[in-house]
Formats: sequence, structure tokens, C-alpha cells
Amino acid sequence: MSMEVQEKDELKQLRDRLAVNPKLVWDQVDQAERAAIFAYGEHYKTFLDRAKTEREAVVEIERQAKALGFVDLTGKEAGPRGYYNYRGKVIVLVVQGRRPLTEGLRIVASHIDSPRLDLKQYPLYEDTDLAFLKTHYYGGIKKYQWLARPLAIHGVVIKADGSRVQLTVGEDPSDPVFSVLDLLPHLAKKTMDKKVSEAFEGEKLNVLVGSLPLGDPETKERVKLHLLKYLEDHYGIGEEDLVSAELEVVPAGPARDLGWDRSLVGAYGQDDRSCAYASLAALLDVQEPEHTCLALFYDKEEIGSEGNTGAKSFLLNEIVEILLERQGESPQARRRVLMASKALSADVTGALDPDFPEVHEKRNAARLGYGVCFHKYGGSGGKYSTSDANAEYVAWIRKIFQEHGVVWQAGQLGKVDEGGGGTIAKFLAVYGMEIIDCGTPLLSMHSPFEVASKADLYMTFKAFRAFFKAG
Ligand code: MN
Ligand code: MN
Repeated sequence: MSMEVQEKDELKQLRDRLAVNPKLVWDQVDQAERAAIFAYGEHYKTFLDRAKTEREAVVEIERQAKALGFVDLTGKEAGPRGYYNYRGKVIVLVVQGRRPLTEGLRIVASHIDSPRLDLKQYPLYEDTDLAFLKTHYYGGIKKYQWLARPLAIHGVVIKADGSRVQLTVGEDPSDPVFSVLDLLPHLAKKTMDKKVSEAFEGEKLNVLVGSLPLGDPETKERVKLHLLKYLEDHYGIGEEDLVSAELEVVPAGPARDLGWDRSLVGAYGQDDRSCAYASLAALLDVQEPEHTCLALFYDKEEIGSEGNTGAKSFLLNEIVEILLERQGESPQARRRVLMASKALSADVTGALDPDFPEVHEKRNAARLGYGVCFHKYGGSGGKYSTSDANAEYVAWIRKIFQEHGVVWQAGQLGKVDEGGGGTIAKFLAVYGMEIIDCGTPLLSMHSPFEVASKADLYMTFKAFRAFFKAG
């Protein structure tokens, strides 16, 4: 061997030993795991289709848990595997561990609400012989993405007598769909000259729902009246019932494979159902773990985790007290349990978009196909408004992932001062637990058709399972 070749060889060894060398998940899995990735994608898409709203997600999570022997945590038959459904909008799954609760829990907390259009209290009106529903958008949307596309309506109407009307229209291929109109380009000259933030007004996100009149031309608001009659005939509800309703307008249609090679999933609501499903699948797979494992599925993350179903609520206190009481321990120990706990704030992140490299810092951006991504911190403007995970904890996470063959990457959402975003990590960090953001990288995040890599989706599941199983 010549001196030159020997030197080259040594340098390569040196680089392999010391430098970070990111590799695609696809390059690191064998045939069996590749098959597992695609199989996981199928279950995931089914979950997305069944769980388009937070309420539907709770129903589906509870159904899957019950099928595997989880019982109501507050019931008499409560066992080692339990669930706690709070107001049909948050759900918590628990698997009891071998160690005492005071040695800490293992918590994976995701959210099951997604950006959408919510109906206003008095939504139905008629204009120009067309009937529309008024909406107020929920969460961070680019408004133009919601125009001129098929939309579905999901939700509940609660009548004054307490009875509930469940509603899903626009998903079955035989269902009608709805749409927000967009201006024809021929007359959009002035709109085109406007700033995007001003060109699309929230107040104009009105959903077209009908055009058929009732009665003769003398009848006032005949199209609206016809629709009110339809609502009464089909659902037994009147206009006032819509005041006590939660009806959500979401993109119509199922989750799809994306790309000829079917390596990607394109769907609405992958923020944060990619992580919610991974956490569900991971927890359902856990048997007799060391530490008691919790999968939390929160509502209201997209509007700042407010309200009694968001992560700012004291729900977690209640859960831990129930667990303590069930084990004959004092609820007073709650604080100690939470301070000794380790958590993942399971949430997605924006992946490096090759069409917009200018907003990313490519050395620290999450990349599609490189595995589950953790963020030490998020926030914006000088790490403002974020929970910055402790280095000791990041090291522990690295070790767990390495031991369990999880392909992972560390990432950051965009360049410094480019924008930013928050997660629920900081709301759980106040309990004193160790916590870090960890989830699936997405393209077109917060759009009606978000894109994820099946390889990353599977690694998210594998990461959460490893976390639950770790000692
Ligand atoms: Mn999210
Ligand atoms: Mn989000």
C-alpha cells in the first residue's frame, strides 16, 4: 500500500469516527424493515381518514385502545392499561410500569387538533341566490390555500335538550362537498397587486353550501330557507341549534400515497396526527414497561394550548392523582412524580423545502427521509417563548435512540429571526419534567395537503416505542 493510499484510508476512518454523517433512512434499513415502513403507512392513512378532527381522533384512539384491553381509568375494573377521555376532546392512555410512580413517568404528548375553518355561531346566510356558511379560521393558515377546493364538514351539534347530532359530510364519494369561492383571474388585477396578507381576507372565507330555492319568487331568502328545511329533515336541527355546535370545515377526501414510488403520504392534518398516531401505536405495543407510560393527546395546540382541553389546563395533575390513588399512594406525591418524569413533546417540524432554501439554515434544518427529528428548542427572536431541553436529557435521548435502531436527526425550524413556532413543550416543562420536542418532518406544513416521508413516519413510531420501553 502506498503512503498516499494509507493516508487516505486513515483520513476516512478519522472522518467516520468523528464527523456527523447523516444518512437516509432508506439506506439504513433492511428488507424486513422497509416492508414494515410501508405497512405502517397503510395503518397510518386509515387513522388519518378516521380522525380528521380532535373529537374523531379521541373516538378512534379510544376504540383502538379498548380493543387491546384498555379500560376506563376511573372505572371499577381499572387495570394496568387504562384510558381517560376528557370531554371527548382530549384522551390519555396509560400503561402501568414496574417501578413506583415517584420514580417518574414516561410521557409522549401530541396534539390532535389541526388548522381548519370553524363555523361561526350564526353561520348560514343567503346572498345573490346562493347560501353560504360564515367561518372563523382556527390556527395558522395561509388563507388562499382554502379557496376553490372541495371541503368537508365534520362535527357535532348539541341541541338544547342535550341530545347530540353527529355530522360528517363530504368524505364519502357519494357525498356532496363544499367550497370557498375564489375570484377569476380576469377580474383579479387589483387583488394580484396586493400583499398576500391583505389579498385574502378572513371574513371572505365563506363556504358555499347551496343554491336551490324553496317556494315561489315572492318567498324571502328562499335558498337559505330550503337549507334550513334540509337541516331539519335530515338532522332535526334548527338555526338556533348551530349556536351550540362545533362544526369544522376541513379538506375533503382521504389520505393518499404520494409519488410513483409511494414513498410519501399526502394528507390534511399530519400536524400533528403523524405524532399522535405514532404515540398511539407505540403505546399499544408496550408491555410491562419499567416506568409507567402515558400517551397524552391534547386539543387546542394550534391556538396556543388554551382552554380546558389544551395543554395549559391542569388535566395532567388529575391523571397523576388518579394513578397515585389507585396504587394506594398519597396524591400529595404528584409533584414529585412529575418532576421525576421524562417527556417527549411529540410534534412535527418543517422540513427543508428545496424551493425555499432561503428560509432554512441547511446545516440545522430537518430533512425529509432522514428520520424522526428532535428540536432542543423552538420559539423565536432569541430563543424566546420556548422550553430549551437540557443537554443531559438530549444525551439520554440520543442513547435511547441509538440503542433501539432509531434513525434520527436534530433540526431547527428555519433561520434565526426568520419566524418560528411554539409547541406544548413549555407548558409541560413547568411541572419540572425533562422534555424535548420530537416528531416527524413535514413539507407543506399547515397546508390542506401536508407531505411526510413514510420512512420518517415509521421512525417516529420507533422513537416513541423506544422511549416508552427505555428504563
Ligand atoms: Mn403541531
Ligand atoms: Mn401546527
